[in-house]
Amino acid sequence: MNQEFELKSVIRSVPDFPKPGIMFRDITPLLANHEAFRETIRRFTEHFKDSKITKIMAAEARGFIFAAPLALELNASFIPVRKPNKLPFDTQAFHYELEYGTDTLEMHIDAVEEGDRVLLIDDLLATGGTIQACAKLAEQAGAVVAGCGFLIELDFLNGRRHLEGYDICSLINYG
Ligand code: IMP
Repeated sequence: MNQEFELKSVIRSVPDFPKPGIMFRDITPLLANHEAFRETIRRFTEHFKDSKITKIMAAEARGFIFAAPLALELNASFIPVRKPNKLPFDTQAFHYELEYGTDTLEMHIDAVEEGDRVLLIDDLLATGGTIQACAKLAEQAGAVVAGCGFLIELDFLNGRRHLEGYDICSLINYG
């Protein structure tokens, strides 16, 4: 497998999931193909290898899948970001707006500190709400967001508008 391999060919598009009108991009065929999974981690590693990343933050659950092996490749710490009341130690939270209502993400208070260069990873960038919340958590702790990596970016939702100034790496785009 190499640069030419079309990662998009191992993404399954499922219409009307989780509700009518939504085209869900299913990453499980990519995960089931170890060559495609390895190539995904290789491409992220190639992009961020000189970014002096100290920590990789990812929100549950699908972000974890890519963040953990990438943390090993980049010799960085893996920091899980979770829904409220899941983490056992003291936490700091960030509250953010959804289309209907609000949501909260948390990380441990000692997970990230001043001087850290944090890479944010998720499987998919849609509206950008999730990754923006992770960025705020990192910055509240005094860290620098040194990059954002997504397996998939839904261009038409323009989640990038929340990520101006950050180095963004998306491996697959849907226009
Ligand atoms: P955002 O906060 O609107 O950018 O949504 C991103 C989050 O929603 C990611 O953590 C994804 O796991 C999830 N998500 C939204 N749409 C899809 C999809 O089509 N496939 C897989 N995950 C999705």
